[in-house]
Amino acid sequence: MARRKIIAGNWKMNMTPTQAVELVNTLKPLVVTDEADVVFCVPAIDIIPVAEAVKGSNIEVGAENMYFEESGAYTGEISPAMLVDAGVKYVVLGHSERREYFAETNETVNKKMLKAFEHGITPIMCCGETLEQREQGVTMDFIRQQVKVGFLGVTADQAKTAVIAYEPIWAIGTGKTATTEQAEEVCAGIRQCIKEIYDEATAEAIRIQYGGSVNAGNAAELFAQPDIDGGLVGGASLKPDFGKIVNYK
Ligand code: PEP
Repeated sequence: MARRKIIAGNWKMNMTPTQAVELVNTLKPLVVTDEADVVFCVPAIDIIPVAEAVKGSNIEVGAENMYFEESGAYTGEISPAMLVDAGVKYVVLGHSERREYFAETNETVNKKMLKAFEHGITPIMCCGETLEQREQGVTMDFIRQQVKVGFLGVTADQAKTAVIAYEPIWAIGTGKTATTEQAEEVCAGIRQCIKEIYDEATAEAIRIQYGGSVNAGNAAELFAQPDIDGGLVGGASLKPDFGKIVNYK
């Protein structure tokens, strides 16, 4: 069975609540499609107004992070139950910016993965190599470790519903997209890794996105690859161009 594409915007730390609603109202008519899941992953403070603004549309709301405890003395954190109550269906976990600036590790990503599944939130787990790792020829070793640790304790049935975003760090926000061949090679390698951890059926079901300077000009070629099931889009998700990315065909 063909996998349904999933195209998600990652707004990062952009958009006040007022701006967020304006952006949703601009993008809503542009991202209409029957052929892909469309997700806006937005800053925590924007979740409630965005969830309200997307009502009746094909847009689902995602968070950009989440904590792995249920509740308690974790000042500043947001729990999975809070996200669910606010209407969140997806959560980005282990984005390279969180790994780099906020001490996210494969282990904390794994804890968050387990919690997300427990609460019925679909994780979009990010992985990806630095330029140095690519040049050293250890890209796949590094990513396999991120995936293997990230999925520890995750059942096959859960993994089938998960989303993995392959985002080479050197391509994020740089305007430097991986070539179609580079992106497909790693996404196929990730699918192979999932097959080794679980089985063929799980590998065939899991959705793997490419992320890293996706734009209206390169989306069609990237998303046409057999192992690329859509994209995680940063900068371009804040512009009307996101409509062209969603309707890339
Ligand atoms: C991202 O934030 O996940 C991302 C891929 O950013 P950009 O599209 O701007 O490179």
